[in-house]
Amino acid sequence: MSHFIESLYPWYLRHRRDLPWRKTTDPYLIWVSETILQQTRVGQGLPYYERFILSYPDVVSLARAHEDEVLKLWEGLGYYSRARNLLAAARQILQNFNGKFPSAYSDIRKLKGVGDYTAAAVASIAFNLPYAAVDGNVYRVLSRCYGLETPINTPAGKKLFAQLAEELLNRREPGMHNQALMEFGALQCVPKNPDCENCPLVNHCAAFLTKQVDRLPVKNRTLQRSSRYFNFFLIEGVGQILIHKRQKNDIWKNLYQLPLEETAGETSAEEILQSQLLIPLLNIETVKIQKITPLRTHELTHQRIFARFIHLQTDQLPENTAGFIKINKKDISKFAFPGLVKKYFEENHLI
Ligand code: SF4
Repeated sequence: MSHFIESLYPWYLRHRRDLPWRKTTDPYLIWVSETILQQTRVGQGLPYYERFILSYPDVVSLARAHEDEVLKLWEGLGYYSRARNLLAAARQILQNFNGKFPSAYSDIRKLKGVGDYTAAAVASIAFNLPYAAVDGNVYRVLSRCYGLETPINTPAGKKLFAQLAEELLNRREPGMHNQALMEFGALQCVPKNPDCENCPLVNHCAAFLTKQVDRLPVKNRTLQRSSRYFNFFLIEGVGQILIHKRQKNDIWKNLYQLPLEETAGETSAEEILQSQLLIPLLNIETVKIQKITPLRTHELTHQRIFARFIHLQTDQLPENTAGFIKINKKDISKFAFPGLVKKYFEENHLI
């Protein structure tokens, strides 16, 4: 056994967190937890996991759910394609496997939204299959311990780290091994200022011995964020507001939002009030501008949203709402909105 593994397992047994998905080998529960934890910290994801499995304790109950309900449970967690994919994959399992979670890696990997990492995590933890799961934590630990400088977000880096992870894998206990490595990255070999002095691997860690801890792992800077300008209208009339469902292939697909005018750049409040969108929705004679918020920034992985909320009060909403849905203000919380819109509702005591 390598020094690496010899030190890692005792550390894991002593330090691992007591998390609900660690007490089960139910592939459904492990899959849900792994999906929630992609791009999400454990502290933030845990309450979502608990609510999710309370509503959908198994594949069949999820497969029969309505997408609006699933998105409502996911509200505020971001990366909503994860929720849509979970639902689509549950329906695949119901249709192709009679509701029983598949136990072969190749079948798990074919489920909608399941990539190499999730397939390996579920296969190893639930079915003890020998697949190495390589997430961001594992990249960091391996890069530092072995002094690997190949950028992790390149095809060569992905191949190199996958090979090393496969070589290190404990084939008798792949589930425990994968979890130990990921937990070590999450708690001990953290991105910034890891506590190297108190690390069991310190005497064998290439990055520590060569003073490269802060440099590793290496990542190519490729991320270009595009800027988008969103003007949301809260159009209120006699206790009702207008919303609509985002259905295009774009961010926040199938979530609800306020009527939105997207502009190419920043526009003045006067200009935005000339929006064609408003013409069928407002009686211009009686409309009052209640409030216009300053632009606020909302960062997504590939986009930076500059958003402004314009609160308009009108005597009555029109009968024909041009594709928008008229709802009572007290029902706002029944719909799933992007975090940015939900926050605006909260700030204005609408939910
Ligand atoms: S010595 Fe520091 S960099 Fe190396 S594995 Fe331990 S915590 Fe990570």
